Amino acid sequence: MSRSINLAVIPGDGIGQEVVAQGLKVLKVVLPEDVKLETKEYDLGAQRWHRTGETLPEAELESLKGHDAILLGAIGDPSVPSGVLERGLLLKLRFAFDHYINLRPSKLFPNTATPLAGRPEIDFVVVREGTEGPYTGNGGSLRTGTPAEVATEVSLNTAYGVERVVRDAFERANARPRKKLTLVHKNNVLVYAGHLWKNTFDKVAAEYPDVTTDYLHVDAATIFFVTQPERFDVIVTDNLFGDILTDLAAAVSGGIGLAASGNINPTGTFPSMFEPVHGSAPDIAGQGKADPTATILSVALLLRHLGQEAEAARIEEAVSADLAERDGTPRTTDEIGDALAARVAG
Ligand code: ATP
Ligand code: MG
Repeated sequence: MSRSINLAVIPGDGIGQEVVAQGLKVLKVVLPEDVKLETKEYDLGAQRWHRTGETLPEAELESLKGHDAILLGAIGDPSVPSGVLERGLLLKLRFAFDHYINLRPSKLFPNTATPLAGRPEIDFVVVREGTEGPYTGNGGSLRTGTPAEVATEVSLNTAYGVERVVRDAFERANARPRKKLTLVHKNNVLVYAGHLWKNTFDKVAAEYPDVTTDYLHVDAATIFFVTQPERFDVIVTDNLFGDILTDLAAAVSGGIGLAASGNINPTGTFPSMFEPVHGSAPDIAGQGKADPTATILSVALLLRHLGQEAEAARIEEAVSADLAERDGTPRTTDEIGDALAARVAG
């Protein structure tokens, strides 16, 4: 059956442009001939904001809805006030397209740098909640800027929102060989939200007798990420804890140049968005120094989400083989993209 992928591309800012070009290069060669690829580029990010003051106009939000998936490079530039693009573009997309799963796999590939002694086995996936927690903009400030300022930032947790991410995580754990799921929260101190998460987790666990479950407080989890990362298979956690834990996960498993992510709407009602975990890295932008591997691995997640499992696996195998052969000689962004494209092309 012939099919097509209608992809929205948001290269964004800084190295986002450079790494997305490599992601597309690999995507074009990995797809079988009977899968047609159509791409449409969207000019969103810092330059657009400087030109027009717009972050994500309604018309473009509507247009983005029509795609099968979105590939994003990175958004952000020091010339734009902090929060403008994060809230006006990235979070807006996540909420508008109900990206309630933020999927962040961590795998320690061969021959990559890890600060951990003894190169432990690292192969886990963090399922981070993407639409609730403290990221909903629910809060306020009183007497702002005075010595008597009071600020609140409310963490929002609904039974609906928690249950759907917990269910997704159980499904993912059940589909993996080790079938282990760890809930990370802080229910000894954040008792209201923690209670909802733990109860929901225990309730859903009863439906997955083959999945081994575990619970860790987030502070303990950070210790185990460093001392025993091999104990993790799938982790489910809230928006804020997941944000912090996945940066740590990237740091222990080969660095920010390799960390991929997906902002997923599993129902398929809206397009899911795939992006490297790293930002726009203005310090190295335009120099051809950015490692495009994280973006290329994000393309693999995108393909898996669209049902192209064989192609996703080919990309991951190519990355693994490429890293195994890297000898420390610096390669440009383009050279790494070319090497990976050559490998997946067979
Ligand atoms: P953001 O707020 O958008 O997450 P950030 O300030 O946290 O951005 P990044 O843009 O992720 O930071 O960059 C952090 C550091 O990692 C920088 O020194 C950057 O040069 C480096 N870096 C990020 N991505 C890459 C990459 N793909 N290849 C090589 N180095 C990278
Ligand atoms: Mg960052």
